[in-house]
Amino acid sequence: MKRHLFLAPLLLLICATLFFMELPFYSKAQDKAPKARIEWIKSLSGSLSSYIIYDGQSAILLDCFRNEKDAKRIVRRLNDRQRKPKEILITHGHPGQLLGLPTILQSFPEANTVTATSSIKKDIKEMMEALKRPAADVILPDMVSEKDSIPDFSFLAAIKVLNDTLLSLPNGTQLLLKSDYASAEAPHVTTVYIHDLNALFVSDLCYNKVHLWLGYGVDKQCIINWIQELQTLKKKYNSSQPKVFSGHGPPADMKLIDENIVYLQEFLRVIASSKTAKEAEQEMRKLYPNYEQADYNLVNSIANHFGK
Ligand SMILES: [Zn+2]
Repeated sequence: MKRHLFLAPLLLLICATLFFMELPFYSKAQDKAPKARIEWIKSLSGSLSSYIIYDGQSAILLDCFRNEKDAKRIVRRLNDRQRKPKEILITHGHPGQLLGLPTILQSFPEANTVTATSSIKKDIKEMMEALKRPAADVILPDMVSEKDSIPDFSFLAAIKVLNDTLLSLPNGTQLLLKSDYASAEAPHVTTVYIHDLNALFVSDLCYNKVHLWLGYGVDKQCIINWIQELQTLKKKYNSSQPKVFSGHGPPADMKLIDENIVYLQEFLRVIASSKTAKEAEQEMRKLYPNYEQADYNLVNSIANHFGK
């Protein structure tokens, strides 16, 4: 009898030890599930950025560039990684995110092309109509260069509205989509946050060492909205300090949000204080000497705002 009394707590102790030992084993096994990876691709035309997010089996592509040549570089990269995209997310209705789509779908016809909301699909419809108007080469000179041709392709038939705030990879990595931003660089835009990777894809709410597009479609109120949205993003992600992936230029950290706020404030100041458009351009070039796309984005942004 005495012997049993001694054995019972011992057995309990052994069981408890095994139980607690199992927990770390379990979480270690979870940790070993391969994390998703992010690949940044820079376009040759327009200083654009596109991203492939992939796990061991599949991929999700964010944006498609604006011509066949650049889109083929995305296709090559996917082939190099031996991944087929299950989804292609178009973050907003600008040519740089859109016009390469037919080339990518030729290689990956089973991919689902999606926008997060119907508003973004509507923006795409309006942009495609604007691009087909004869004045397109005048009002959108930077967005479509002479080398870009507008593909004879039904974008609206190919693009579905997701109506969801989540995309996921087979390994469980979740992409959290947010699209309720005020009109800024584009009338509507989707950002993506991946908690597992602490990665924030801000699309064209940030440019990295590339002059911001403040031309066609971006009025003064859009610039004010843009600054406010960036300040909100900064507050929201201040504690987690994610890596920041922008729509133009290389990956960065949260300091990129501040740089974009300052750029927008400087642009408004320079426009208000310059006597001529040329003076405004020179001042901006002096402030941002190494930024790409000065001849396109900056020149057209000043033309759009000076004297208004
Ligand atoms: Zn854009």
